[in-house]
Amino acid sequence: MEIVMPDTYFFPSKAISRFKKRAKLIHRETGKTHNEALEEIARGFGLPNWHHLTLHADASRHCELAFANDLIVAYDLKEAENVDTALFTENLYLFGLCRKPLIARFRDGDEDKWEPESETEYERMADEYRLFVRTGGTAPEKLEDAVELVQSSSFFPPEVFWWKGTLYEGLGAHPVLPQQPIPEHLMSAFGAPARGEKLISPQVSASKGTGVNGNVADSYSYCIHCERAYPEGAYRQKLSWQLCPYADCDGDTVIDNWGWRRIRKENPGYPEVPELGVQYPMHGPNYVAPKNPKQKTKRKSK
Ligand SMILES: [Zn+2]
Repeated sequence: MEIVMPDTYFFPSKAISRFKKRAKLIHRETGKTHNEALEEIARGFGLPNWHHLTLHADASRHCELAFANDLIVAYDLKEAENVDTALFTENLYLFGLCRKPLIARFRDGDEDKWEPESETEYERMADEYRLFVRTGGTAPEKLEDAVELVQSSSFFPPEVFWWKGTLYEGLGAHPVLPQQPIPEHLMSAFGAPARGEKLISPQVSASKGTGVNGNVADSYSYCIHCERAYPEGAYRQKLSWQLCPYADCDGDTVIDNWGWRRIRKENPGYPEVPELGVQYPMHGPNYVAPKNPKQKTKRKSK
């Protein structure tokens, strides 16, 4: 048994049968009735009676089943405020199952070999999470369904989630952790992402359009699918795909993304800072075909 949180006693399902065996032993050795022995065991844990113990055990069992067969999400304290409580319910008993894996994750994830003063430091860090269990309906059958549900439950991705007892980082193959909310002007230009998709904001100062290197044109990407520009680094996360940030486009930011600089070079007259949402044809009215790159390499190799 573990007192996981104030007034939250986690009893693994094996515990009850163990207590009943112990009660039999007490009965044999002391002559107390089986029930009296059970009451004594419960009081030994600081609980008022056996009935109380069974209530905690039932709540623990519920979490054990959910942990093994369903979906659990762990959120940062601040971000937990955004969790859709129609989809997920906070449950303190989950700490009985999730605290250890969280602590192990801190220990393994310490890349800079930060050593806590004591193991309790990791415990304190683990307790700063809030744990939620999926509610209502049936458990997601496939990992994609689980990911979609996790994505639609909150604007922010969770720190980790468990699906059928397995721990997943953030959002699976491509963990995404937008540290800042999507700027308003980007959200309105791109349009609201569909259910199960998530808009990811670039880490550059999008309002000014300047990239990390200060070069304006470099900080915009161009989608050859919808022929619109967007701040470099913006995309729509759908499972493990990174799509064009414009909600109505199916382009991929990995294969359909050209730099705005290149489009401008081939289309003199296009502005240095493209307007969001505006379609700039790849072969615009002033289109200039790029020089044959083969000739260049020949000259260079001499
Ligand atoms: Zn696009």
